[in-house]
Amino acid sequence: MTCKVRLPLALAALATLVASPALAADKLPNVVVLATGGTIAGAASSDVQAGYTSGQVGVDQLLAAVPQTKKLATLRGEQIANIGSQDMNDEVWLKLARRVNELVAMPDVDGIVISHGTDTIEETAYFLNLVVKSKKPVVMTASMRPSTALSADGPLNFYNAVAVAANKDAAGRGVLVVINDWIHGASSLTKMSTTAVQTFMSPLRGLVGTVAYGEAEFYRGPVGRNTVDSEFSLDGVTALPRVDIVMAHENMDGAIIDGAAAAGARGIVIAGVGNGNMTEAGLKALAAQAKKGIVCVRSTRVATGRVGRNVEVDDEKLGLIASDDLNPQKARVLLRLALLKPRSLTEMQRLFVEY
Ligand code: ASP
Repeated sequence: MTCKVRLPLALAALATLVASPALAADKLPNVVVLATGGTIAGAASSDVQAGYTSGQVGVDQLLAAVPQTKKLATLRGEQIANIGSQDMNDEVWLKLARRVNELVAMPDVDGIVISHGTDTIEETAYFLNLVVKSKKPVVMTASMRPSTALSADGPLNFYNAVAVAANKDAAGRGVLVVINDWIHGASSLTKMSTTAVQTFMSPLRGLVGTVAYGEAEFYRGPVGRNTVDSEFSLDGVTALPRVDIVMAHENMDGAIIDGAAAAGARGIVIAGVGNGNMTEAGLKALAAQAKKGIVCVRSTRVATGRVGRNVEVDDEKLGLIASDDLNPQKARVLLRLALLKPRSLTEMQRLFVEY
């Protein structure tokens, strides 16, 4: 089994640690901006209002709002969707992934920026990380404050995302998320605060790099197989299997686990307590569903840490999978792709170790 190790990219990156954001106009890279909505495209009726609506501003307005990006890249935009990312869905995911794959295959496209809401950006980034087939930079960005807010964070995040997408050293690092001066890997970042601008952290795997006013510095390659090294593909895929997440808690019974199975879930991810634990009743219900062929993965509701196989729970005996370091929402993404073809439990466990 291959483990999630750093790829030897760091060596190449060492040669050009600091990339200059401003290039000569005739050599500007071509970057395509795919807009999906979110707070970065949100608007409120006043600049100090907490309530606002996501997905109000179109891609052309987004581009026009940050003219400074014209010095970084030749940009063009496409509107894929205009929704709050709490409404992200398979239709938009499949459309977005297909469009990214089409664009990165074009010789005159050097990089992609995707604007998105912060609520589910980690899921979309991880999904794209598994199904995009290119080493070209694919960089997602978002904001916590709407475009109309005092100290809106969207414009600088967008500027930095364009700088990273236009930067050759960003290539081969998997799908990246640029927000608040940090460059996160798709497999590592998670949203930690409901409202703070500094909401994203990469608790276990660490940052891929930093970017300040377009000046990017890269520390490492991606952790976990991704993009061109991923075995997943959306070729011929028109729908993704249903996988539900069930959170463990004090006095948990098996009702919600059974309910997920009854609703048609082909996989269940437990957001367990501690090291992927749950009550005896929960574990009994989960093992019973696993026996019926539903793939059951133990992850954790704890913000950071791995869930180890056969540590407190005998996964081998009960037919369960340990999520390794994927949080429940990312474990769900991986499991949905894994379920696109029949696999043994050993194979399933391998995926959670390698990705
Ligand atoms: N609810 C918003 C969204 O995810 C939050 C944000 O973008 O910050 O679209």
